Amino acid sequence: MVDQKRLVETFLDLVKIDSPSGEEEEMAKELMKRLKTLGFKVLRDTYGNVIGTLDGAGEPIMLNAHMDTVEPGRGIKPIIDGDIIKSDGTTVLGGDPKAGVTAILEALTSVIEDGKKHLPIEVVFTREEESSLGGAINLDYSQISAKRGVTFDGEKELHNIDISSPGYNSVNVTVIGRAAHAGADPEKGLSAIQIASEIISQLQLGRIDKETTANIGLIEGGSARNAVPEKVHFKGEIRSRNKEKLEKHTKHFQEVFDNVLSKYPNAKIDADISREFEAYFFDENHRVIKHIREVFKQMNLSPNLQHSGGGTDVNIFHTHGIEAVVVGTGDFDAHTTREYVVIPQMVQAAEFCQKLISV
Ligand SMILES: [Zn+2]
Repeated sequence: MVDQKRLVETFLDLVKIDSPSGEEEEMAKELMKRLKTLGFKVLRDTYGNVIGTLDGAGEPIMLNAHMDTVEPGRGIKPIIDGDIIKSDGTTVLGGDPKAGVTAILEALTSVIEDGKKHLPIEVVFTREEESSLGGAINLDYSQISAKRGVTFDGEKELHNIDISSPGYNSVNVTVIGRAAHAGADPEKGLSAIQIASEIISQLQLGRIDKETTANIGLIEGGSARNAVPEKVHFKGEIRSRNKEKLEKHTKHFQEVFDNVLSKYPNAKIDADISREFEAYFFDENHRVIKHIREVFKQMNLSPNLQHSGGGTDVNIFHTHGIEAVVVGTGDFDAHTTREYVVIPQMVQAAEFCQKLISV
């Protein structure tokens, strides 16, 4: 049975291990140790992700959470306050991702302790989800046979399920003009800041339609008040849950770059637009959603199917043929120093995970 006291202890132990993105070593070792104790065959791929497998009966299922937290995430001091666990206010709590990691570990412990029959289980703990999805991108997929999975990385209550997520293009632009003394020789200059401004003012940004958004989020350039600026960099993104719309809006960006360049033939515009991850979309009758619904029924829960605006490891799993969805873990106000988890909701996530893998 899922044991609340043990679950809370696990959670407290895990959040006290610092694991900001890129520094997951200690966390990985702890998780490998715990999985081995449970009888899993455990390995680390060359990127440092932890993969644990345990034989069972039926179709394999992947259980996933990431290992890294955002900053400020060092020296976390969790405080229990009734049903809630929070940080001391100087750091995040690390409930994202450790509420999810804890739910998985407690479910596995419970199933194995009770000697219950279970599916073949493949546990995947990834690195660098928060910073780049790098763990999922570089995961050794040859070690994973599951074609379906559940990722314990959602905010709020368990029943919040992301059934779709946008595809994502990153935009990196460098504009190069020509430097000159702004007072003595402005005619010799070509202002990269002015050109970048023209580009950005022509871009359609913000919410483009129900499924599509665009943003320029960072700009830097110039060197001095009295110098015509030679170089400007800016970075942005285009997201859409609809592939054609993503392509259409990307084309719009490209056209603006070309238009402005034709006005300034002596300038150089280096624009790199790259697909970082693909969109996915499940309808409510998808087999993974059906499986979750069946388990929810046993728990008297009904799913709240929602459309996510962000990208997670799940977007990458989909491109590798693993159909996974994100469920809530009882973590609130993630990525802030106000972050907290609700203990009964973490328990619920663990019970769900236990029922999910039981046969
Ligand atoms: Zn997360």
